[in-house]
Amino acid sequence: MTQTYPFDALKQDVAAGRIDTVIACFVDMQGRLMGKRFHAEFFIDSGWQETHSCNYLLATDLEMETVPGYQATSWAAGYGDYTMKPDLGTLRKLPWLDGTALVLCDVLDHHGEHEVAHSPRAVLKKQLKRLQAMGFSAQMATELEFYLFEQSFDTVRKNGWRNLAPVSGYNEDYHIFQTTKEEDVMRALRNGLQGAGIPVENSKGEASPGQEEINVRYADALSMADRHAIIKNACKEIAWQQGKSVTFLAKWHEKAAGSSSHIHQSLWSLDGQTPLFYDSNAEHGMSRLMRQYVAGQLAHASEVTYFLAPYINSYKRFVANTFAPTKAVWSLDNRTAGYRLCGSGKAIRIECRVGGSDLNPYLAMAALIAAGIAGINQQMELEAPFVGDAYQGHNVREIPKTLRAATDALNHSAMLREALGGDVVDHYVRAAKWEQEEYDRRITDWEVARGFERA
Ligand code: ADP
Repeated sequence: MTQTYPFDALKQDVAAGRIDTVIACFVDMQGRLMGKRFHAEFFIDSGWQETHSCNYLLATDLEMETVPGYQATSWAAGYGDYTMKPDLGTLRKLPWLDGTALVLCDVLDHHGEHEVAHSPRAVLKKQLKRLQAMGFSAQMATELEFYLFEQSFDTVRKNGWRNLAPVSGYNEDYHIFQTTKEEDVMRALRNGLQGAGIPVENSKGEASPGQEEINVRYADALSMADRHAIIKNACKEIAWQQGKSVTFLAKWHEKAAGSSSHIHQSLWSLDGQTPLFYDSNAEHGMSRLMRQYVAGQLAHASEVTYFLAPYINSYKRFVANTFAPTKAVWSLDNRTAGYRLCGSGKAIRIECRVGGSDLNPYLAMAALIAAGIAGINQQMELEAPFVGDAYQGHNVREIPKTLRAATDALNHSAMLREALGGDVVDHYVRAAKWEQEEYDRRITDWEVARGFERA
């Protein structure tokens, strides 16, 4: 991991009065940053060693419910503490917040002895260790799409999430003029991230009014997941500072394109110097290793879907002819397929297009890597690439259409149980089932409007 802001530099900035606040946080099951703000002087004195938080933070939902049914924690177990251990390699300044730095923490048990296995950062680190033992490192990039709205978060909430006004009036895919009008937020975002040690490649308009994409440079998988979590928070903070709002819902409106988080993946030698997915003599430049890795992801595509689409809403994105995939097939640079071969030569990589902007990057990468490892270990053969319009493909592997189906596939996945650990899979199956239960007992606006008079 490349350190962008050494601890000694923080100490100097604190002494000079340039930094007064350090956010110490970890990433929860939903991919959010959770933690505390430290006075910087306390942080450099002793806070950097560890702090504590209630262990319900890794057993709650978007609403912060005390969700019943988890083995790891409960009212009966007293909802005790976890230890949050700052990973000083993740320390960075947040230029968009005055005098503020941020550090990500690993989550350990109360006594600080073992990492909590279902903590998203630990879930990914476990798969990276497996790869490392095989002599590989993973380079990843998660593209992020989101929608930008004229109204502030508070206004949106007070209006009951109705009459939302995206910042543009038309499809702004690649548009320079329309995105010029959005530079107050997007330029602040690009420069803010760059200043936070997250190298930005570009931002662009996307395929519906108000839809944005931000791309940052690929990195080792753990650094990329850390970046992703911080980018999402930065988008919200910078939009909020300007009286606007953003959403990472996978599908905020039936008439609008869904928002994705495509995951670009490649394996390299341990020193990060040799791209192991490239073979100049092989068909399409794909090495045998790459073919096995992709074959593993296809073979286990249904099982990993929950980690790419974790909410009820996530499944509304999988609509034909919208650039969101509906089939788990691979292709040569074909955007109708769930998996797309991208780049050439050393830049060759596989892009998983299944994930929505609502995914947790640690869990998504971990599940994809686990499936890829299974493909390598079993020396799986890769099927022929899909050619043509995958939306129209008959008798081809479908992406599960509902959270219920994806949860079932996760629950019955021997591969994920072995790779992630049975307790970890059970934990996330519980999260998925709770999400379904919460939805099932609600009556939607659509049902009432449709049936109130006419049923
Ligand atoms: P596209 O527009 O075709 O989806 P981009 O050129 O925008 O692709 O690249 C998407 C992402 O892929 C970028 O974030 C880039 O850093 C990343 N990327 C480039 N090379 C690799 C690689 N070898 N492994 C993983 N990600 C990579």
